[in-house]
Amino acid sequence: ILIPSLGLVLAFWFYSARDTFKPEMLRGKRVIVTGASTGIGEQMAYHLARMGSHVLLTARTEARLQNVVRRCLELGAASARFVSGTMEDTAFAQHVVREAQAVLGGLDMLILNHVGASYFGFFDGDVEHVRKLLEINFLSYVAMTTSALPMLKESEGSIVVVSSMAGKIAGPFTAPYSATKFALDGFFSSLRQELIIDKVNVSITLCILGYINTESAVRAVSHVIPQTPAPKEECALEIIRAGALRRRELHYPSPAVGSMLLLRSLAPELLDSLLLSSYRLENVRRT
Ligand code: NDP
Repeated sequence: ILIPSLGLVLAFWFYSARDTFKPEMLRGKRVIVTGASTGIGEQMAYHLARMGSHVLLTARTEARLQNVVRRCLELGAASARFVSGTMEDTAFAQHVVREAQAVLGGLDMLILNHVGASYFGFFDGDVEHVRKLLEINFLSYVAMTTSALPMLKESEGSIVVVSSMAGKIAGPFTAPYSATKFALDGFFSSLRQELIIDKVNVSITLCILGYINTESAVRAVSHVIPQTPAPKEECALEIIRAGALRRRELHYPSPAVGSMLLLRSLAPELLDSLLLSSYRLENVRRT
């Protein structure tokens, strides 16, 4: 009895020690954050700056990126730069990674967070919109990862993929968006296994987020979803923490997302009806 109990205590101690996050873990690390001009990406840039990382930020809007870079330098970033452009273009996605090689000499963490604009409503039949969204929300993530892997292998670094509840549970009114987020789970969960088989020490963290209080999310869904969104600042910190600890998945906000995922496995029909009953359906856009 004593030996197995001691084993359990040691395993628990080892797991807790491994699970301790310290901001110093990010000091001097070279990090790319995509979608860093607003929302959760902007907040991640500020956290990383306070932790003393080198940040390379990207999005389309140059003026906003300039402000975020300035603020990062004020907050203590080891260095802060941006590259502006659209992730509709795979060549741009690859260019951002080459820029990290050129100016930072390598990469420790790749945070894939950007998301193209979509609508919250009944699927309108626009196939071109689905294609464009797949390019922005999925293909560019694959392109950046492919280009960054050699540098990440060298640094034994981390890939952080920002996904959504809509990438695990397909509720209504998000068909194109949900498709792109499910694709991320398929691709990155498979790639994670291959890295393990090949003994490549690059971690992949998939972040499953619930409703967060970014301007764009509140604008898109608050007339249909009455729940209070979780704070973007805390969400951003949890994403960085999960990446630094090389976790397989982050569920944020934790009890809400975790319990929905559990209910999805145990009683999917019940989950569907609970979701629907929580929406203000009369406010949903129909085309
Ligand atoms: P925001 O809309 O606030 O930010 C999106 C970012 O992506 C901006 O920096 C935007 O900058 C950039 N972006 C948009 N289109 C393009 C493009 N074509 N090429 C390059 N960059 C682009 O989003 P959030 O902060 O709310 O979301 C961040 C992540 O979190 C996303 O992956 C989202 O799916 C996920 N998430 C968010 C939730 C929420 O409730 N907020 C819930 C679940 C998941 P610019 O316009 O300057 O290009």
